[in-house]
Order: sequence, then structure tokens, then C-alpha cells
Amino acid sequence: MYTDLALYIDGKWVNGGGRKGEDVLNPATGKPLAHLPHAGKSDLDQALEAAKRGFALWRATSAYDRAKIMRKAADLMRERHDAISKVLVQEQGKVYVEARAEVITSADIIDWYAEEGRRSYGRIVPGRVKGTRQLVVSEPVGVVAAFTPWNFPVLTPARKIGGALAAGCSLILKASEETPGACVELVRCFVDAGLPAGVLNLVFGVPAEVSEHLLAKDAVRKISFTGSIPVGKHLAVLAAKGMKRTTMELGGHSPVVVFADADAEKAADTIAAFKYRNAGQVCISPTRFYVQEDAYKKFLARFSDYAKGIKMGDGLEKGVTMGPMANARRIDAMESFVADARSRGGNVVTGGKRHGNQGFFYEPTIVTDVPDDSKVMTEEPFGPIAPIVTFKTFDEVVERANALPFGLAAYAFTSSHTTAAAIGEAMESGMVGVNSVAVSTPETPFGGVKESGHGSEGGIEGLGAYLNTKFISQG
Ligand code: NAD
Repeated sequence: MYTDLALYIDGKWVNGGGRKGEDVLNPATGKPLAHLPHAGKSDLDQALEAAKRGFALWRATSAYDRAKIMRKAADLMRERHDAISKVLVQEQGKVYVEARAEVITSADIIDWYAEEGRRSYGRIVPGRVKGTRQLVVSEPVGVVAAFTPWNFPVLTPARKIGGALAAGCSLILKASEETPGACVELVRCFVDAGLPAGVLNLVFGVPAEVSEHLLAKDAVRKISFTGSIPVGKHLAVLAAKGMKRTTMELGGHSPVVVFADADAEKAADTIAAFKYRNAGQVCISPTRFYVQEDAYKKFLARFSDYAKGIKMGDGLEKGVTMGPMANARRIDAMESFVADARSRGGNVVTGGKRHGNQGFFYEPTIVTDVPDDSKVMTEEPFGPIAPIVTFKTFDEVVERANALPFGLAAYAFTSSHTTAAAIGEAMESGMVGVNSVAVSTPETPFGGVKESGHGSEGGIEGLGAYLNTKFISQG
């Protein structure tokens, strides 16, 4: 029911051959699903040579023809969504409906980029001297090295593959070793859609070794990374040595501001469902809840009802609404967040401990009465923990919300148009959802500010991330 794991280099699936590797675990059981081969240095060099040839070929392919192959791949993803989603659930843990939504949205992303690649226009700027022409054109950056994490094993690769292919770039994608199977299936859709050899290469390995090897190569002109802030900073340093372009989609710690004039129960229903999606392992997950005093009781009661009603279990089982954490590291992290909250006077309203005696399950948790400098209020939880505290005034909550060095997503609920406009402007954040959590769509830019990174994925900005601007002055 799982899948055959392999590297995909220069149009061939490769495995075995004495390569080192690692076991992929099912987080619902802690048991191995399959063995994943690692790419050695010679595999990476072959992938690089293939990507160079792939780039020459793909950039010379018209955007019209590139779009045909991309749309075919998106169709195959939709056709195969059930099988791909089941692979995703087994290796990552999220529930089937979420996995399915991820695969379908990823197909939409590929479709959107396929179309947008055809609209990668330049412009003509009037010259100062008669008879001259000043052309501004967009050209693909070159070979891209992309690194994707374990929380969205299909969607994060789809964003990078979509943008790069639409722009005319080739890629070497190093997807997560912990969740490789769904990405293998994603790449298979492109292979079966007729993508030429070398244009998209998929590798796995020891992350630090792969990134150091590839980023040292002149041919790699662009790095796109999604993951933690420390690793993003490390890769940015490596990229700077070769002045390579970067897109860094890193962690956050998203504030939620609920004003007293909001419908507190409706807000709680919306944001609680969003909070526990993928067991909270989402970079834009709401992670710090500030509720204006008059709305606090109502909001907390409704939010707690939601958390207590969650059914935990294997994501493939019917009726289950939250799966396990993706790996054992997250359990350790949750335990340390809760211990710190308790030691600082925090009150655990619900949850606060592991669930069951197999796999990596952690209960949906709510903590209250935690100080702003506690661990859970200052470090990204990346798990099913919701700290909920009160605030008094607009200015106070803005200051508290903006106090951290992160700025990925922020959310607010209010019935006032004036407050809605003011809070949207006041948040130091790449995305702000006001009475909405729809901050991630194929056609809109997705990315952070401050230590949450730079550059956008999605929207026309996501295509621009893989394009260089050239000016041609013709006399
Ligand atoms: P980690 O820092 O070890 O790894 C994060 C990701 O980076 C993983 O996918 C890993 O394979 C990759 N990575 C690690 N070292 C690398 C290197 N030298 N070169 C290239 N890739 C490298 O953390 P983790 O335990 O996997 O996750 C913990 C934290 O990471 C979370 O708390 C969260 O803050 C962050 N994270 C963010 C996202 C996101 O969507 N932005 C996704 C996953 C994890």
C-alpha cells in the first residue's frame, strides 16, 4: 500500500547499488514502511550534469509547450489523488481528508503556474533617442536546488516545481527523507506527463551533505528552501558565497487577535479547526491567541469544546480528525513547551500529554495564563498547542503581536471595518487573515518577513522568483 522509493536522476529511477539509506517510519505506529536510498556525491554530480542539460532544453521549450506537460502532470495528480494521499497519510500522519486536499491543491498550483508561465511578459520602455529600443525581458534563472520539509510533502515541492518549470528552469529537488513517498509519486506524475529527462531530478540524502555539495556548484543559480530558521540562515550563508538567489520560507509564530466586537464563537470555530490541522505542524498555523477581555470566556469555552471533540488516531481510519505528530522530535518539543508553561504558572485547560502507547500522538492542548516571555509564546510550537491569553487595547496587542523576530502569518477577528483595516496594516507579517484564514492559495503570494524569510511562493511573485530581469538597449 506504500510505494517503491528511489532517487530520480537524469530520467531514471535509481536505487540499491550499495547506496546508504534510512528507514521511513509510519508515525501512527512508529514502525518502518520502507527503506529510502541516499544519494552519494556521484549521484549528486550526475543530477547536476543532468539538470544543466535539462535547463538548456527546457528554456528552449516554449511556454506554451511547457504548460501542456505541466497541465498533464496536474491531471495525473488528480487522477491518482487517492493513492498519493494514502502514501502521504502513512508517512506523515495527517488525516486522509487533509492529505487529499493537499494533493488536489498541489495539482491546482501546477495548473496555475502552467498558465502564468505563458504570461511571463517583458515590456518596451520608450528610448530617449529616436530609433532606439529599450527592452525589458525575463529569463529563467538557471538550475534550481530546492529543499522541502516533512509537513507538506506534496504541496511544498509542488510550489517549487511549479514556479521553476513555468519559468523555464530545471531543478534538483531534495525532498524530506522522513516523508519521501508522496513526493516520489508527485515526480512520477511529471515523468508520465512527458517531462524530458534532466529537467526535474529528485534526491534524498543527509541534508547537510546534499546542500553543501550542491550549493558549492556554480551551475546552481537559485536556492529555494522551506524549513526551520536556523537551517535557512545556514543555507543563506552558503548561497551568499556564490551570490545565488534565494527564496527562504521559514518558521513563524502566528498571532491571532480576537477583538471584543467579533463573533467570538464563530471565530473560535474557524480558528480552532485551523489550529489543529496537521496536528499544528504548519508554518502558518495560529500559535498565539490574544483575546480581548470581554470576549475571552466565550472564545475559550468554544475553542475548548472543539479541542476536546477531536478524535485522534491513524489518519486512514474513518472519523479520525487529528493524526500523530510527524516524528518523535515533535513529542519531545511538546513536552518541553508544556513543562515550561506549567512551571511559569500556566494552566493546562485540556490535553498536555502524549496519547496512546504507540506512534507519536500528542493530545490537542490549550494553555492559559502564560506570560508573554514563556517558551510557548516565544518559540514556534509546531504542534497542537494553543496558548490563549487576554489583552486590553488595540495598541497593546499590536505591540505584543509584533514583538517576536518572526513575521509569517497573522490573523484577526473583528466586526468593525475600521479595526479590520487598521489591524491588517499594523501586523508585521507576510500574510494577514482578517476574519479569514485563507492566506495560502495558488494565485496569491505566500512568504514571510523578518526572520520568517524572504521572497514569495505562489502568485506572480512566485514565478518572478525564478526569473532574472534583463535590459536590452538596442540602438
Ligand atoms: P530541522 O531544523 O532539523 O529541519 C528542518 C528541515 O530542514 C527538514 O526538512 C530538514 O530535512 C531540512 N534540513 C536540515 N538541515 C539541512 C541542511 N543543512 N540543508 C538542507 N536541508 C536541511 O528541524 P525539524 O526537527 O525537522 O523541524 C523542526 C522545526 O523546523 C519546526 O519547529 C519548524 O520551526 C521548522 N519547520 C518549518 C517548516 C515550514 O513549513 N516552514 C517545515 C518543517 C519544519
